[in-house]
Amino acid sequence: MASSESHQHANCVSMSHHNTIVIGAGMGGIRMLYDLKKRGIEGICFEAGAGIGGTWYWNRYPGARADSESWVYVLTFLEEIGVDYKWKERFPSQPELERYLNEVVDHLGLRNNFVLNTRIDSAHFDDSRNIWHVTTSQGQIYTCDFLVAATGPLSTPLKPPFRGLENFKGDYYQTALWPDQKVDFAGKRVGIFGTGATGVQLVPVIAHAAKKLTVFQRTPNYVLPGRNFVFSEDQERELKQDFKGIAKRVRAQPFGGDIGSTTRTFLNVKDKEALNQAFDYGWEQGGFRYIFETVNDMLTNMDCNEAASEFLRKKIRALVHDPATAEMLCPYYPLMSKRPPLGHFYYETFNRANVELVDIKKEPVVEITPNGVRTLAREFDLDIIIFAIGFDAVTGTLDSIDIRGTNGKPLKTHLETNLATAYGITTAGFPNLFMVLGPQTVWANLPVVIDNTVDWIGRTISHMRGSGHKRIETKSELTEKWKEEVDKQFWGTLLGQGARATGAWHVGGNVEGKPVRCYWYFGGVPTYIEYCEKEIESGYPGFTFSNAVEAH
Ligand code: NAP
Repeated sequence: MASSESHQHANCVSMSHHNTIVIGAGMGGIRMLYDLKKRGIEGICFEAGAGIGGTWYWNRYPGARADSESWVYVLTFLEEIGVDYKWKERFPSQPELERYLNEVVDHLGLRNNFVLNTRIDSAHFDDSRNIWHVTTSQGQIYTCDFLVAATGPLSTPLKPPFRGLENFKGDYYQTALWPDQKVDFAGKRVGIFGTGATGVQLVPVIAHAAKKLTVFQRTPNYVLPGRNFVFSEDQERELKQDFKGIAKRVRAQPFGGDIGSTTRTFLNVKDKEALNQAFDYGWEQGGFRYIFETVNDMLTNMDCNEAASEFLRKKIRALVHDPATAEMLCPYYPLMSKRPPLGHFYYETFNRANVELVDIKKEPVVEITPNGVRTLAREFDLDIIIFAIGFDAVTGTLDSIDIRGTNGKPLKTHLETNLATAYGITTAGFPNLFMVLGPQTVWANLPVVIDNTVDWIGRTISHMRGSGHKRIETKSELTEKWKEEVDKQFWGTLLGQGARATGAWHVGGNVEGKPVRCYWYFGGVPTYIEYCEKEIESGYPGFTFSNAVEAH
């Protein structure tokens, strides 16, 4: 258990020592605390928010739901711990996910291991003792043997950059900082910036409530239909009975979903009709099945990608009545350059009389005025503005904490200079630091990645306890090798060229001044798991272990 020690650090005296301090009470943090508990390792988790849930605590905007199916967007230990959660819909909503995560925490008896309303300000590694000194926004200091950053890859929202916002007389909201209380849109003129996965979820919901909705679009997306539905009792029962099968299949699918594959390629389909039938099948299935179950060279063959993209543009033209609006909604970059959002009657919403689409690439925004938004061509009177403009992804939240490794080296500088990690879990020069969903982890349905990563971290800490080692260091040979593998999987494909050209967030292209690099491993879940397993099975060749006395 935590011990009361007295370590001098800066001008304060530390309050207590923990074996492991976890940062962030999202899915990663919850899963990590459970894993530690299972192994008899003491841990505590600090969370900046007032509640548990991470993404599903903060992003409580209307229409928020997962883009992964509920039966794969769960932590796979549910059966193991005996939580019989009742899923309601194909794509779980934010309130449902928040409730589920809270239920899991209570079921596990972990509630008291979370310290809420407390941000971690700094974490400095003490080379002479192999411990971390951690300070919080509440002015406390703790020490720990292991630090786990489960800070989330999409947890630092971008600030609205528009001139004049401070003079706006109405209300404005950022989706990732949505208030607890219900926002009333009735009779209001609402403007929304951002048509990524977040904006696309909001638009159809707000359109029903607001008097007028103006969507300020910078870049159109290929919005795939979600085809959400409410489960019947029998469907729910069937899914539960197959829980073990699902858990196995998600680890074998590149994206970590319960999604099929195809051997059909653009070159081997016999005619245009057969190709369209394949695309139609994917479109009708809903979700990301369009990407994986139609043709298997969509991401490698440009002609194939263009055919898949044009199929979607035809759907947009068929769904949106006004040809000019339909054309504005059509993307002309390769599909998957940006992460495609899932829509729930998104395109159909633009047929409503109270919804207007404005192309702010053609008609740039000049400023926010006290009454609304002024573009180069027009002025829009608004009562409410919503910003769904994305995140400083992957490194944003890590950068906001003053984390320093050996010789006081800041993690921010370290990753900015050379983005090189070991499987997105550790990096050289930062002993005893683990990251859940860190830079260069695998691009996939994230609960599957969390399960794998947390298990890897838990096993590694257990291994160290078993062998009496106090310090784990990552060799830079390993991080350089992983970086090479990450880059090879990405930049040689259509994905890389398209992401760079469209300023996609997964390459950092959406944040001014951020180095454009691949922040994710695109080699797929099975290969990623194989790499992680091999590291442990071969005795951690990419790491060195030592104990305090030996090292110093
Ligand atoms: P995003 O994909 O980065 O989209 C941000 C949107 O805001 C883009 O349309 C962007 O236009 C626009 N934008 C950014 N800055 C702007 C500015 N200054 N002026 C006007 N428009 C601006 O962010 P997101 O929608 O929050 O989604 C991010 C990721 O979070 C998703 O890809 C997904 O992985 C995750 N997410 C998941 C779910 C889910 O699973 N249901 C829901 C929401 C989010 P440009 O394209 O031109 O940059």
